[in-house]
Amino acid sequence: MTDRARLRDALSQVHQDELVALTRDLVRIPSVVKPGDPDGNEAAVAAFVERWLAKEGFAVDVQEVARCRPNVVAWLGEPRNGRSLLLEGHTDVVTEGDPAAWSRPAFGGDIDAGRIWGRGAADMKGGLAAAMIAAAAIKRSGAPVGGRLVVGALVDEEGDMLGVRHFAGTPLGRALTAAIICEPEQNELCLEQRGVVWARVTLRGRMAHGAMPEAGANPLAAAGTLVRHAPRLEQRLRRLCRRSRHLKPPTVTPTVVRGPVDGLPQANVIPATAEVVLDVRLTPGPDAQTITAEIDAVCRTVADAHRGVTVDWRPINGFRSATEVSRSEPLVRSMVAAVKTATGRRPVFGGVPGSTDGTILRETLGIPIVTCGPGHRLIPHQVDEYVEIQELVDAARIYTVSALKYLEG
Ligand SMILES: [Zn+2]
Repeated sequence: MTDRARLRDALSQVHQDELVALTRDLVRIPSVVKPGDPDGNEAAVAAFVERWLAKEGFAVDVQEVARCRPNVVAWLGEPRNGRSLLLEGHTDVVTEGDPAAWSRPAFGGDIDAGRIWGRGAADMKGGLAAAMIAAAAIKRSGAPVGGRLVVGALVDEEGDMLGVRHFAGTPLGRALTAAIICEPEQNELCLEQRGVVWARVTLRGRMAHGAMPEAGANPLAAAGTLVRHAPRLEQRLRRLCRRSRHLKPPTVTPTVVRGPVDGLPQANVIPATAEVVLDVRLTPGPDAQTITAEIDAVCRTVADAHRGVTVDWRPINGFRSATEVSRSEPLVRSMVAAVKTATGRRPVFGGVPGSTDGTILRETLGIPIVTCGPGHRLIPHQVDEYVEIQELVDAARIYTVSALKYLEG
């Protein structure tokens, strides 16, 4: 059979009705993670995904990452030609917030105006459904797959990314040679993702009476100085990081200022400690050491300006570097061709403003990742989240052709 006929056969197995139904089924299983609530996690949606993939005849592995928080991983074929491709989605969603703020039920999966509505429709049960349908289409078509195709429905992307961290350490994870991250990026091919460091800065001074500040050392005043220095740090990082056509330049945003860190705040007490969190976003270029040195330098400046106050910082949840992948990577070349075949359009390149599970895969496994999935880039975490059905179908078609082309080797 010719290559083109194989692609056509596989694409003929991507059915819009089935994809829409699967997306709605996934949206209707709430998977907002609520620590302390035994039902507030990904377990129910993971069980649904597991049953669906097993029914399609995939080998399926369920890996309990934390209590009642399982990764579901299915695969097809063996990496005989040295290639193993992951189609990656996460099963958790962020909170719907105030249900009354929604114009449609947050977990209803309603269809209206060519869109599926609900929390997770775009971020990212739609992308996960498209990945599942693409893998099933390839399997049903009987097209020989040169390497191994893996579908991963992982937990906790919106939290600490426990799911992908766990998966990257398993034999299936370690054998990966490339990954498509099915996050909502309007089906653009995103070869770059911004990095992030949440710098938790702890300022320690000396407790004293508010009427006699000279007897203490006020960490809150130092916290103020630190916040005032944020724009200067931002400027420095903008000079150090590379400019990108697809990513916004680095930003340094204070997101938490609090003091005292422990104990009761009191109007007439200078607290012993204060805390500032800086949300630092990065573009590719400098390594972690360089960024660390810049943040260290700001902390020293603040400490020098406030006698008796010490200033330390630690990254919350580690250091996630910006990622970039070259256009010459086989995965990228396969996807460029796939977008044309699957949609008849030329690919649009883009960049991811935040980090994703792909950041962890890129960092721990060193494999190329491309983020590409259905859904408007700005819609995640908003009320009235939706995904365009046409984008959903395009995504499933792009994944199908990308996987076949890449795994051919
Ligand atoms: Zn997401």
